[in-house]
Amino acid sequence: MYEVKVVSNFSGAHQLKEIGGKCEELHGHNWKVEVFINGKDLDSQGMLIDFQIVKRYLNGILSELDHKYLNDLPQFKGTNPSSENIANYIFNALKQKIADSKVMVTKVSVWESDNTCASYYED
Ligand SMILES: [Zn+2]
Repeated sequence: MYEVKVVSNFSGAHQLKEIGGKCEELHGHNWKVEVFINGKDLDSQGMLIDFQIVKRYLNGILSELDHKYLNDLPQFKGTNPSSENIANYIFNALKQKIADSKVMVTKVSVWESDNTCASYYED
């Protein structure tokens, strides 16, 4: 298997409701987002998928979140915009854009600080 990873960032604010503690207060993060794409076969140029394509899709998704109050976005309606739910949202949004049977999005990791990260993947 081959794997490529693309990293990007966005900034946003959120409040995590009903969890207790200081995360209930309005605060922001500079999130780092890593997306992992796997596949068995390379194209005729020796690439799994063009990095530029992945970057364009990922940055398109992140631009909808950037500098926003995440709790107010329809993407997170009815849920807490936790790093876990952000990872899930990006995973599914990217999966829809990469409609290529030869490659698949395998994991999205969302770093909310240098030391804490949540990931979403499917079995
Ligand atoms: Zn937070």
